[in-house]
Amino acid sequence: MVIGLRPGGQPLVDAVELAEASASAIWHRPRLDLFGVQIDCVDRATAVERIRGFLTAGTPHQVITVNLDFLHKAEHDSEFRATINEADLAVADGMPIVWISRVLGTPLTERVTGVELVEESCRLAAQTGRGVFFLGAGPGVAEAAARRARDRHPGLIVQAYAPPLGPITLDENESTIEMIRKAQPSFLFVALGAPRQDLWIREHRERLGVPVAMGVGCVLDLLAGAVRRAPSWMQATGFEWTYRLMQEPRRLWRRYLLDDLPLFGRLSLMALDEHRAARRLAEQRPGGALG
Ligand code: UDP
Repeated sequence: MVIGLRPGGQPLVDAVELAEASASAIWHRPRLDLFGVQIDCVDRATAVERIRGFLTAGTPHQVITVNLDFLHKAEHDSEFRATINEADLAVADGMPIVWISRVLGTPLTERVTGVELVEESCRLAAQTGRGVFFLGAGPGVAEAAARRARDRHPGLIVQAYAPPLGPITLDENESTIEMIRKAQPSFLFVALGAPRQDLWIREHRERLGVPVAMGVGCVLDLLAGAVRRAPSWMQATGFEWTYRLMQEPRRLWRRYLLDDLPLFGRLSLMALDEHRAARRLAEQRPGGALG
């Protein structure tokens, strides 16, 4: 499988790292290696089943929803890359990733979004009497998202807290962790922006002791109605980003146009190369077209 390149031409992940990562993947969880970033080959139903399993196990688990922007950040940030690769579940939250998986010949069946996983988790929590905690997002957003989640899932126990935007002090960090430990939720959804939210979960997951902790980016804004979700045809055709860009052009133009689009072009070309190389190999094998 092709491995992405670090600036300077070094592979993103060396062969030993990859072998170790994929050894566990082969036996326990099929994963797609997307240029050094491991993504679970799961559809929505299987992802929810996994989450149900984490809940039953009761020990801390981390879930990550990987989109093109995560791949861009992971290419330049080895800690973030390790966080994704060592997560208990990393789903493909973006059509571009599904398309690239198809070109590579190891197709993911569908996109699994953070919004869907949060919704399914809230449903599960309401059914089983488990608690949910929404952490982060702008002033009033997490509370609004919690109110709406309670409306949709009667009986849901959900708490919300938003630390001040931007970097937080050590004291604020400690009191946030303490608040979550006291609440003892079964699900923790963290909206502090990527990669910060995912690194934060990774750093504190053992102390937090939450069975299912997941970074959710703008999901709380969507649930609260502070940001509108793209129409379903845009979601299905991979154009959701254009809708988001129109809503928040100042914040997102650089991310989508300068970072993610060129990366998508580059990854698609690498995937095509990989696909052609695999085909040539197959043709050269005895019994192949050239055999
Ligand atoms: N956010 C936050 N604190 C910060 C930075 C971001 O609570 O210091 C929240 C922000 O209000 C929003 C979410 O993080 O709710 C956005 O995260 P991100 O940009 O990763 O989301 P994406 O746009 O990728 O879905």
